[in-house]
Amino acid sequence: MSREERKLRKHVEAHKNRELRKALSKARTKQDKPPRDRAIIDPDEDDYVPHRTATARERTTAPTSAGFVVETGPGFCDVVASGERTRCRFPGDAAIGDNVLFSPERRRIHEILPRRTELSRPDPHNPRIQRVIAANVDVVVNVVSLKTPPLHAGLIDRYLIAIARSGAAPLICVNKIDLQSAAEELDPLRPYQALGIPVIFCSAASGIGLTELFAALAGKLCVFAGHSGVGKSSLLNALNPEIEIATGAVSTGNEKGRHTTTSSALYHLSNGATVIDTPGIREFGLWDITPTDLRNYFQEFLGHPCAFSDCTHTHEPNCGVKQAVAAGEIHRSRYESYVRIRASL
Ligand code: GDP
Ligand code: ZN
Repeated sequence: MSREERKLRKHVEAHKNRELRKALSKARTKQDKPPRDRAIIDPDEDDYVPHRTATARERTTAPTSAGFVVETGPGFCDVVASGERTRCRFPGDAAIGDNVLFSPERRRIHEILPRRTELSRPDPHNPRIQRVIAANVDVVVNVVSLKTPPLHAGLIDRYLIAIARSGAAPLICVNKIDLQSAAEELDPLRPYQALGIPVIFCSAASGIGLTELFAALAGKLCVFAGHSGVGKSSLLNALNPEIEIATGAVSTGNEKGRHTTTSSALYHLSNGATVIDTPGIREFGLWDITPTDLRNYFQEFLGHPCAFSDCTHTHEPNCGVKQAVAAGEIHRSRYESYVRIRASL
């Protein structure tokens, strides 16, 4: 066989394989696609996709209402419309706080309306998938306590990043101010005040600052997130005596609080604020973030250009951020926090 002939045969062989691969992949996609008539799915079927747009037939046969998701659980989600609560099956991606179009009669969600914000965390079974744990939250109150458990600025930084990613506004609530014994105990909060993030000092026990906190939440959809034992349940109870959430004592041995709230809940305060309080929300925090993204969440870094546009602000020469830290223009604690979080990614 001549060289030319061998080359030609090889070419023909490669072409045949390519065509075969194409045909196989075409056949597979066809198999995966539901047949055309499945577009009109009987909502009683178990493989019904709850968040797709309802078909014309469904819309005409079952009246659709606008509702608000107040609770989600395994295989269900509760939707409130005109004061009526309907338990819908197959919640799909619906999250607490979602505005939905649904059929009260068929107890089916037709559509999840566009979200203003999304609080998410990785799926416990597949960390690469993000699950939305609350939608449309306006304010995330990061509750911290002055003592028992002690104040950790690094934790606040992590919460602030997670809050910024969600699109909600941050509010730092420093609880247990009644335990304050020296003025400098509040120094770790200065960087946040300088950034213009609202910081409210309060005490669920003595009532200090509660009026201010209450006013800041008026009319908003909020969540209280923070370390266990900082006083989230106590604060909610203090804000509205009608709210009853179990509070637990901080075990004195390790100063770590016990987790006492177990069931999902959504509460209305008398000033029109709505508070979502679920165990998932309480654990809401910073999980996956790339080191490149991280830089952008430290907003005070952005005004200090570096020699390299992809500067990590760690080892590079002529780093504007490091210079600003040295000059006292960026709080050292925030910079150190950035370095620590970056190392942990
Ligand atoms: P959660 O885990 O964040 O919901 O915290 P809890 O509301 O269960 O409170 C944990 C502990 O802190 C309880 O023993 C509360 O009585 C206590 N606690 C809550 N707020 C205050 C406060 O303002 N001052 C003091 N000294 N203790 C508080
Ligand atoms: Zn830099």
